[in-house]
Amino acid sequence: MARIIFASNNTGKVGEVAELVRPAGHDVIPQSEYLVPEAEETGRTFVENALIKARNACEHTRLAAIGDDSGLEVDALDGEPGIHSARYAGEHGDDEANNSLLLAELAGIPAQERTARFRCVMVYLRHADDPAPLICQGVWQGHILEAPRGAGGFGYDPVFWVPGEGCSAAELPAATKNELSHRGQALRALVEALRGERD
Ligand code: IMP
Repeated sequence: MARIIFASNNTGKVGEVAELVRPAGHDVIPQSEYLVPEAEETGRTFVENALIKARNACEHTRLAAIGDDSGLEVDALDGEPGIHSARYAGEHGDDEANNSLLLAELAGIPAQERTARFRCVMVYLRHADDPAPLICQGVWQGHILEAPRGAGGFGYDPVFWVPGEGCSAAELPAATKNELSHRGQALRALVEALRGERD
């Protein structure tokens, strides 16, 4: 089976990606197994950041790599936090602080104007200088609640209302979230594109 490096240190994500990509004939290995240092996300778009991560993994391993980047876009905030989602409140990955800041920024904004979406971009690079990467996106529409709900998931899940399910993303079973989410959509599209590579 061909090896692909997954350019993330998030173990939950690696497992999810490996499971979906294996049937397409590829073995997904976390970049930590090759001691790949984390890349600096200096891009101005999700696409650029996903490419930076994947290219960094290719350069250090000489293998093909998948990179991803995701975030939350809030219409009333002109698309912020967007690519800054992980460090919206300052420190990387402080979910509680990020959610508090988001709710404070949206104070007084009525429900119908709290529309938002999660976006995820997944890219596949055959090698560091690949001129034609596979690029796939997923988008998950919802809106931002007035207060957090639920204990599951991570990041902005407790403040993200999922209209079709009548609950927050943090109240969804993991399997349902994977089916609906921006990341699940992008990943399934990438798996299809990888299958196409072989045909
Ligand atoms: P990254 O793609 O792992 O760099 O994630 C960027 C940031 O976007 C995360 O730290 C979260 O704050 C947010 N985010 C991305 N996907 C999700 C999700 O599925 N639920 C909640 N927050 C998310």
